[in-house]
Amino acid sequence: MIYFDNASSTKPSKEVLEAYINAASNNFENPNSIHKLGMKNFNEINRIRLRILKALNLDSEYEVIFNSGATESNNLGIIGYFNKNKNRGNHIITTKVEHDSVLEVFKYLENHGAKVTYLDINKDGEIDIDEFKKVISKDTILVSIMPVNNELGFALNIKDIKEITKNYPKCVLHLDCAQTVGKYPFDYSLGDMLTISGHKINGLKGSGALIKKKKINLEPLLYGGGQENNLRSGTLDYPGIVALCVALENTMKDFNQNYKNIQDLQGFLIEKLKNNPEISLNIFKNKTPFILNFNLKTKKASVVVEALSNEDIMVSSVSACNSKKESPSHVLLALGKNEEEAKNAIRLSFNKTNTLDEAKIFIEKFNKIIDSIIGRKL
Ligand code: PMP
Repeated sequence: MIYFDNASSTKPSKEVLEAYINAASNNFENPNSIHKLGMKNFNEINRIRLRILKALNLDSEYEVIFNSGATESNNLGIIGYFNKNKNRGNHIITTKVEHDSVLEVFKYLENHGAKVTYLDINKDGEIDIDEFKKVISKDTILVSIMPVNNELGFALNIKDIKEITKNYPKCVLHLDCAQTVGKYPFDYSLGDMLTISGHKINGLKGSGALIKKKKINLEPLLYGGGQENNLRSGTLDYPGIVALCVALENTMKDFNQNYKNIQDLQGFLIEKLKNNPEISLNIFKNKTPFILNFNLKTKKASVVVEALSNEDIMVSSVSACNSKKESPSHVLLALGKNEEEAKNAIRLSFNKTNTLDEAKIFIEKFNKIIDSIIGRKL
């Protein structure tokens, strides 16, 4: 089986699974119990917080709120910040190419008193800084942007955005880094709040964190036992937290070598695909090599994805979260593609474990499939 759908989810590594099983078997006690076993787990979680900050090169200005993943982190970061700070201003900004777990949150807040701006993205996959300067104001309290796009892999110009937000002291910058960690060299200290997710980095589904500057105040989404400084009630998932830490440390440790290997793999695929008359590659100046997206000119993406799947090759058309809806990709639409084009793109997304041999097999099978299926316009 060839698995090129790693932006949807990755296979947990052996180290992650071993660490999870060990913690779940031997350290199952509630970290909030005050007996010595509970306290042992609690103290270990506090050490893990520091390891997570260290892995991302963040200092003690930041803190980690463990939770169930990127969707929850985006909800807590954005809704939690808006609800706590709306008396200071009601304007929030995002882009048209965010994940639904940001866009739907913005829609929700729009219905609850927020003034919302959705920024355009230009053909290079960047935010127009002049447009940004025009829309940000003293009423803007939050900007939320993903540094690396989950569908097309382009890297946005976060540094430029940060330079501007610095002039607005009330405004915080939230970065959805679900597809950035392990996929792109990035200075995480550009964010005031950061979203990370375990299952995108060879960790486990249901584990993630919102990392934020300590001085930022949030309103919780969940009320109860008051865990995580009252910001995320619910018994701490000690084994899941251990697994997240192992996944993150391993991802960051081997990052440079893995990045180079996947650059080579992507380079091979681009070389083989760029002259194929049936496709047009969606390439950007600044992008992660871990995501490669292309449009099909005459074939239906869903038909090609199914044909590849029958050959034991797993890829996505648009993002997994949207692919069941059969709706066009909002990211491709935002980049100026028409509806038909926005429905017929293929996303290949890689993991450090993928090999050049797999890429060679992909090309062979893909070419055969493209030759054998009838185009949508025929
Ligand atoms: N943000 C981005 C950029 C994503 O790619 C995803 C997953 N597709 C999410 C958020 C949601 O992640 P999770 O499954 O951890 O909730």
